[in-house]
Amino acid sequence: MSPTTVKARILITEDCNRNCSGCCNSYSKIMSRAQYVDDLTDLPGELKSIMITGGEPMLYPEKTQRIAEELRGRYPSSNLYLYSALYHDNLEMIIPALDGFHYTIHEGANKKDLFLLDKLQELVQNHKDEWSDKSFRLYVDDRVNLPVRIVPNVWTQSNISAWITEQELLDQQPNGLPVGEQLFIYTGN
Ligand code: SF4
Repeated sequence: MSPTTVKARILITEDCNRNCSGCCNSYSKIMSRAQYVDDLTDLPGELKSIMITGGEPMLYPEKTQRIAEELRGRYPSSNLYLYSALYHDNLEMIIPALDGFHYTIHEGANKKDLFLLDKLQELVQNHKDEWSDKSFRLYVDDRVNLPVRIVPNVWTQSNISAWITEQELLDQQPNGLPVGEQLFIYTGN
């Protein structure tokens, strides 16, 4: 496979403020494919796409910003995405380094989660022109039982659907990871 076809999914922290049933980080066969790196320079030299995820990266907004900016500098031509389920005001400084932001409303979402979704939607609306080249994707777990207000012109794509179990993922990708994707756990600070 050409190195330029490789995608990297990087867990920059395994800490999380949630306790979702069926957390994807408990998918043992998939997680067994993870490679540990303590320095971002240990990642492959060329990457088509990079997905920063966790755990919850926005528990540590300064670290997430530093990593996003370092990856942006190292991989200027790669597509760089951040996955989160926790709004933080520092996103205003992090999103400029990204090509896209993926936000999730998880099972068990409460009124505060929906308030924070509104804050995010307001932030993106306020930067609509400036961030017009970026993608914003929203996923809502269909087990959420509060009404979720989705502002349509904020999102490039939004969907409400069932959470995918490990077995369903393995049915789609028997080796545990999508073709061309590598999973990394970053152990640096
Ligand atoms: S938010 Fe993500 S990492 Fe955290 S418990 Fe839920 S699925 Fe797991």
